[in-house]
Amino acid sequence: MCHSHTDAALTLPAGAAKILQILQAAGHEAYVVGGCVRDALLGRTPGDWDITTSAAPQEVKALFRRTIDTGIQHGTITVRMMGESYEVTTYRVDGIYEDGRHPKEVTFTRSLSEDLRRRDFTINAMAYCPGEGLVDCFGGIQDLKDGILRAVGVPSERFAEDALRILRAVRFSAQLDFTIEPVTLAAIRDFAPSLTKISAERIRVELDKLLCSGHPEHFLTLYQTGITDIIFPEFNRMMEMPQNNPWHSYNVGIHTIEVMKAVPADRVLRWSALLHDTGKLETRSTDEKGTDHFYGHAKESAAFADRFLKKLRFDNHTIDQVVLLVRWHDSWFDGSARVTRRVMNRVGAENFMDLLAIARADAMAKSAYAKEQLLPKYDEVEKRYHEIKDAGECTSLKDLSISGRDLIAAGMKPGPEIGETLQYLLTLVLEDPALNTRETLLPRAEQFRRSRPQ
Ligand code: ATP
Ligand code: MG
Repeated sequence: MCHSHTDAALTLPAGAAKILQILQAAGHEAYVVGGCVRDALLGRTPGDWDITTSAAPQEVKALFRRTIDTGIQHGTITVRMMGESYEVTTYRVDGIYEDGRHPKEVTFTRSLSEDLRRRDFTINAMAYCPGEGLVDCFGGIQDLKDGILRAVGVPSERFAEDALRILRAVRFSAQLDFTIEPVTLAAIRDFAPSLTKISAERIRVELDKLLCSGHPEHFLTLYQTGITDIIFPEFNRMMEMPQNNPWHSYNVGIHTIEVMKAVPADRVLRWSALLHDTGKLETRSTDEKGTDHFYGHAKESAAFADRFLKKLRFDNHTIDQVVLLVRWHDSWFDGSARVTRRVMNRVGAENFMDLLAIARADAMAKSAYAKEQLLPKYDEVEKRYHEIKDAGECTSLKDLSISGRDLIAAGMKPGPEIGETLQYLLTLVLEDPALNTRETLLPRAEQFRRSRPQ
């Protein structure tokens, strides 16, 4: 048993305190452990409170009325207490991770310090219980104070056991804005190639947490340690792609990170920022004056985003949202209501403010010249957007004052012409909302029909 105890007092949820009490009263050891202790010490609200105990799984089950065998082969029982669920796991030592992913077997132990030793980082390897205080065998408190992420034990051994820890390290550094300790960092670099053993889903979960964190700029660590070589090689090429034109002052990779920093910590916005310029890899041209252009890059970026997110097994809704924002991220605006309505029509009014968030962040990550040109214009566009909404102006087919049924009632044959006619009427109304009345649109529909070759 390590002797590093501190009598800090943490406030536990009543259910967790009760479970510790019941286990201890039956003669077992029991502590809250891991991420919740870390977060509570940092003054953050823990997502869930995990409990570690010397009691064997059957002993745990015998003590509580409502339990679920969540991962009983790994010693984990879910206990329901006071309306909440808690995972109670028996002290264990993990066996060999033969495939770098799953411990082949776990061995239960009666020693807390053995259980803490198998955990990934010092700040995640602390336990607490009200009577005894904090148990910190590996200097977790000091590392929390210093803002350092450090593997427990020999870093290279820990990453060899489980390659996912490589990504967890960078993810925690981004969530907490911590510095990765040099020996741990060197081991990350050495073991980055072993990430090929980790499934796309688990990579997605970690990348998602990194992107949605308070410090997405730690994404650069993925590049610096060779992790992007394995999971996102295109990003390496973005880091090597200059943008020699008046709009930009960074290469494509650094610009991308700056855009991620500038959008709110929303999942769709952060992934859109990450992928918005990937199409620049396929579209760069340099004119005779030496200026770089990236004509049509948004369309290429959208195609890449679609493939990339599918490979990471994202849900369809997220993919659709990101692809849409990426596709139209560089929409041109002049501050007029006409152009604003057209873009609202293209992306859907409900997505327009997200598009504007990306456009603004994109501008903020460009040159001083670009910011001066673009940001005041986006302020105008936002005003137009609210005016259009407040006036209830039409920005989509469903807002037109006539429908396909009206056209058929007026004598048009059902068929593709109906849709084409409505689309034509919509372009008129996007130009001039005053035209959106039945009296105006029905004659226009008739004119359109007659102007078409029969
Ligand atoms: P989060 O805020 O993401 O939940 P967490 O630290 O609680 O962070 P979990 O994945 O919930 O992370 O795991 C709970 C605890 O289990 C960790 O704090 C750590 O002690 C241990 N742990 C989790 N995954 C690993 C791993 N791959 N290797 C070693 N220990 C791990
Ligand atoms: Mg957790």
